[in-house]
Amino acid sequence: MKSDSEILREAVRHALRLGADVAGTIPAAMLKNCPSAEADGNQGSVRDDGTYIILGLFHDPATPEMDHWEEGRGTPGDRQLGAIGRSIAGWLNETHGITAELIPYQLDDGGIYLKDAAVIAGIGIMGRNNLVLVPGFGPRIRFRAVWANIESNPPAPVDLTNPCPECPGYCISTCPMGAFETGTYSRQRCMQRMNADKKRAREIIDHCRACELACP
Ligand code: SF4
Ligand code: SF4
Repeated sequence: MKSDSEILREAVRHALRLGADVAGTIPAAMLKNCPSAEADGNQGSVRDDGTYIILGLFHDPATPEMDHWEEGRGTPGDRQLGAIGRSIAGWLNETHGITAELIPYQLDDGGIYLKDAAVIAGIGIMGRNNLVLVPGFGPRIRFRAVWANIESNPPAPVDLTNPCPECPGYCISTCPMGAFETGTYSRQRCMQRMNADKKRAREIIDHCRACELACP
């Protein structure tokens, strides 16, 4: 019989075979008081048992339609991640008898702070653009998560080089909203732009990605 950690390693490999570009795991309890949860005064996870499997998908700037958001449908990229997540959950259940499910994207619906989760899982580091910088992909990765009723150990620390100190800060100078002017990311300023994007569009919304696409 396979150990929990072997099953989780297998789940990560399975996610990569299904099309995820990166994947990792994190005990759910580690997200309860993650940095963003502390900053927002929220709890970072409704669960403190089991494990989140974090899935990441590269959003190639050459295929911007992966990010085009439609009411009630989300984005094509997110639908692809959702399909991978559901498949992993089904595989865990059918192959190993483990309860698992794709969790909602939005925090209010039972989601988690995906960027915090990706960083804690060792997938990447937080850049000055408030996006997770993933080796080989930069900040052009979107995340979703599957919760599985299986215990795991905290991820081993990963030594990733932070490119930001050597960079002139292309993300900062390109932001049309000056969202980084104070030295920290202003969610409020960024949201003003996101809301303007929504008003400007009719059915398909093409959100601002300037700070993401400017990052080398
Ligand atoms: S553009 Fe430069 S400063 Fe901004 S996130 Fe990328 S590497 Fe870091
Ligand atoms: S998404 Fe656009 S508005 Fe928001 S921080 Fe990045 S560049 Fe600024």
